Amino acid sequence: MDSYIKKGYFTQKLDSAGNQHAELFQYDFSKLPIQPAKKDGKELMISVNMPGRKIDLQVWSAQVGRITVYLLDADQLSNRYEDRELTSQLYGGNQDMRIAQEILLGIGGIKALRALGIYPNVYHINEGHAAFLTLERLKELLHLGLPFHVAVETVRSATVFTTHTPVPAGHDAFPLGMVEHHLGPLFSEMPAHKQDILNLGLDKAKNLFNMTHLAMNTSGLRNGVSKLHGQVSRDMFREFHGNIEPGEVPIDSITNGVHMDTWTAGEWKKLFHQYLPESWSDHQSNIQQWQAVSIIPDESIWHVHQHLKSEMIGFARLNLMEQRRRNGESEQRIQEVHQYLNPKALTIGFARRFATYKRANLIFNDLERLNKLLNHPERPVQLIFAGKAHPADHPGQDLIREIYRVSQMKEFAGKIVMLENYDMNMARYLVQGVDVWLNNPRRPLEASGTSGQKAAMNGVLNFSVLDGWWEEGYDGTNGWAIGSTGEADWDTQERENTDAIYRVLEQEIIPLYYHQGEVPHSWISRMKHSIQTLAPVYNTHRMVEDYTTITYLPTANRSLRFVKNGYDLATKVADYKQFIKQNWHHVKILSVEDRAAKKTTEVLAGSEGPPAKKEITADVYYGPIWPPDTAVEIIYYEEKDGSWEQMIVNMQPTGDFLEQIQRFKASIPAHLIHGPHFSVRVRPISPNFIHSYELPIVTTTLQR
Ligand SMILES: *Cc1c(COP(=O)(O)O)cnc(C)c1O
Repeated sequence: MDSYIKKGYFTQKLDSAGNQHAELFQYDFSKLPIQPAKKDGKELMISVNMPGRKIDLQVWSAQVGRITVYLLDADQLSNRYEDRELTSQLYGGNQDMRIAQEILLGIGGIKALRALGIYPNVYHINEGHAAFLTLERLKELLHLGLPFHVAVETVRSATVFTTHTPVPAGHDAFPLGMVEHHLGPLFSEMPAHKQDILNLGLDKAKNLFNMTHLAMNTSGLRNGVSKLHGQVSRDMFREFHGNIEPGEVPIDSITNGVHMDTWTAGEWKKLFHQYLPESWSDHQSNIQQWQAVSIIPDESIWHVHQHLKSEMIGFARLNLMEQRRRNGESEQRIQEVHQYLNPKALTIGFARRFATYKRANLIFNDLERLNKLLNHPERPVQLIFAGKAHPADHPGQDLIREIYRVSQMKEFAGKIVMLENYDMNMARYLVQGVDVWLNNPRRPLEASGTSGQKAAMNGVLNFSVLDGWWEEGYDGTNGWAIGSTGEADWDTQERENTDAIYRVLEQEIIPLYYHQGEVPHSWISRMKHSIQTLAPVYNTHRMVEDYTTITYLPTANRSLRFVKNGYDLATKVADYKQFIKQNWHHVKILSVEDRAAKKTTEVLAGSEGPPAKKEITADVYYGPIWPPDTAVEIIYYEEKDGSWEQMIVNMQPTGDFLEQIQRFKASIPAHLIHGPHFSVRVRPISPNFIHSYELPIVTTTLQR
């Protein structure tokens, strides 16, 4: 048993009934491109206190370009056997194992950085898994003597958070007792603040400690990973932010991108070198330079594409032969694979994790209609599938079995194939060598998706549900859409998307591909347009630029300002928030009045003047709070293109501040006198907040 402590992710083997077998193997660290991290010439070890024991971790380092990645390894002889397994694999075990892993990652992560002498200005938490890192930093600051609320403010000023999961169930949450148990040693180092810390992660509705809540409460800027996912996240965390509108929830979005140098075929890079400016790769997010793709001769593009396609087919055949040989199948069954996959046929690829929401079998909903497409005498189509299901995901494994079963039907032999052991190497063959990349998740469950971005860089056309990145990437002519952007329940989506897949294939994709014979110019023109519009955007250069300008630089500046002069600004902001929280109950909107509509300008004969306005006044009682520390706003809705758009008008103070009462006024369009009207709200603001809704407290009048 003890030879399986360094498992990584599993190797997938398919048997001749399409069952997935997950094989684990022992990683030999001496054969991986990693080295022990060293401090003063000595291999670096750190340890994390856990209930009743400590866990030693060796720190390893990997060089990824100019970036050093540090890894933590619990497989030490000094640890209890079950603790040695804590870093053996991703996604395994029960909740106790999971929380222990997250403690090693978060708390151990900070300890490793400190042992290396690293004190960053910005900490970026991706998903809630690493959010315990904020508690270790909190402890450091408390031990320096900072009050709790100032320590939290300091931590928050240097933390950014990216959420990746659009379903609530995908966010880690632990029973409070479990957190108290596993974090016991940490709590014992700051005993006065156990409840405060539990509150940082508390999901009141569920009475669970939610890692995303912890991350949100201890971070400044937050983002989702595509525009649509940003919107979904704002809806999901609206309650968390009090009574503000979904559009105002302070979660931004930065769309994922992929590493172009890794995913683009060498043959394509050669073409880009030839026709784009010499430094094209350094400026890959410059849209302008990609215009030059237009001048690449169609023949060169088709030659490269066909070459990559035949390489991919060769790779796929080897994979299938290996499956059959290992499964002890007949020599005839092995040899017939040589005839599988036609290099001239329109080839559709589908490869990803086999999570059920990705609906790998959607295109099988009407096998008769699919049969007509695949076995068309002049315009054949073929499908290549690959993907692993998590060993505990039985519905996911059922999907693999079903695809395997259909691939074995006589009419689909050699036209539908299921490859085994999808990994980055296989992904590279597939995203470079198929004609069309299919993606049909249930919307909006694909936070971003990235494999289609890899395909796009290689002139492979996306055919996808308008979810994740494709919702913003698709421009009508750089690939194809499945379904619409409207909201629909799963059954409706299933029906509509199934129909759309066949219809678009029959009416658009297949005719375009088989148009114009040997070198299909209209198809190639679409490939070019796809590269021009997608390659400059969905790459890691653009993504890192976005993170730098939108997130890292503002956070770095702010975190430096917060700690300066003995945590002066952190203290100011923390005290301000505390004061507001303690005194906000005084704030009351005493009265709101709307004056009769008045014309702001005389309407000239024969021309329409500006729309009539009405003036709103509101009297707000403040108690000890200072009016300039608040925003007083009118919220109303304008109908625009059939939907209601929220409008916010800032009210201005008028008259003196008397008896703790301030009057405000503003104008809104008079026609609102009919229909659902408006509300007035007061909320705290500060120039030192990183976003306008940092303190989620709002006092609102009812809709009038
Ligand atoms: C790119 C890639 C993924 C992720 O693809 P999605 O489209 O985001 O599902 C998964 N596995 C491998 C091996 C990949 O190369």
